[in-house]
Amino acid sequence: MITPIETAWEPELWRIELSQALRSANDLLSYVQLSNADFPDSSTLSAVEADFPVLVPRSFADRMTPGKPADPLLRQVLARGEESRTVDGLSLDPLNETSDAAIPAPGLIKKYHGRALLITTSGCAVHCRYCFRRHFPYEEHRPTALAGALDAIRQDPTLSEVILSGGDPLLLDDRRLTELLHNLAAIPHIRRIRIHTRIPVVLPTRITSMLLQTLANSAVPIIMVIHTNHPQELDHNTARALRLLSRAVRFLFNQAVLLNGINDSADVQIALCERLFDQQVLPYYLHMPDAVVGTHHFLLEDSAASVIYAKMQAGLPGFLVPKLVREIAGEASKSTLALA
Ligand SMILES: *Cc1c(COP(=O)(O)O)cnc(C)c1O
Ligand code: SF4
Repeated sequence: MITPIETAWEPELWRIELSQALRSANDLLSYVQLSNADFPDSSTLSAVEADFPVLVPRSFADRMTPGKPADPLLRQVLARGEESRTVDGLSLDPLNETSDAAIPAPGLIKKYHGRALLITTSGCAVHCRYCFRRHFPYEEHRPTALAGALDAIRQDPTLSEVILSGGDPLLLDDRRLTELLHNLAAIPHIRRIRIHTRIPVVLPTRITSMLLQTLANSAVPIIMVIHTNHPQELDHNTARALRLLSRAVRFLFNQAVLLNGINDSADVQIALCERLFDQQVLPYYLHMPDAVVGTHHFLLEDSAASVIYAKMQAGLPGFLVPKLVREIAGEASKSTLALA
């Protein structure tokens, strides 16, 4: 079989797409042929939106089923009144990311041995309602502080890996990304760079030939961890983006979050892992959602998660089973769930 040669997207298309993204619950709802009346609990929506605005690229909304309030993609991004309900046991910063101990320099979070996370930008191409960084004080960790973070990385020879995070690092323009990768790769103890990004899935037009060159030319291997929660997110455009990326980086992995009412079924998870494989990606982590203020309706019990996970193990080859983990503040790594 001859595979058609795929080409990257035109350079400025993604910026246009981003500028035309849906930016309010009302716009999103009318785009998918729904109205507020389909969501009885949305009375306090304006407060919710002021706190964390809706942001959805149209190409992502195009993958939703019109007229379906329970659509799993819509539910990930639609602001809901229930986000403003007060629930015991939830925190603004459940992972202690704003405690000084975890921050060697502004913009750099070090929790684990050998790797540190660099906050490269505060922006994302989509706003996920379950996001654990929705309350993160990005203002205090401005990308302008990157020089200090780079110095801290230089001075810590125990670091062998830097993880570009955000926000979404692929929102950096190509020049800044190239410069950042170059500066990191020039540090002798840095052996690899990891990029955590949801952009190949939510804004595939960002995969331009300049970006691919930047990644392919890196002096140290690049690992890209994308973020997909549901097989319906993966379409012909993501297939094209991921095929192009698979030639430019060393490995492509996925992390997903197990979300009540969105992907909390073994069938959906198995379909996701299979579809990821079809699109060149291996499952890496399946995260239990973090207990962040405003996200209680996405949380599910460990017992429910372990039932789903047992079925995934029975239904997939070992290499397509992600690790089921949660993050516990203060632990030396992500913690695997004790299975029933
Ligand atoms: C999750 C996380 C990592 C990455 O952990 P891995 O288990 O290596 O994927 C690194 N740093 C921070 C601060 C994290 O939250
Ligand atoms: S793309 Fe990632 S960081 Fe941005 S809102 Fe979604 S989950 Fe949060």
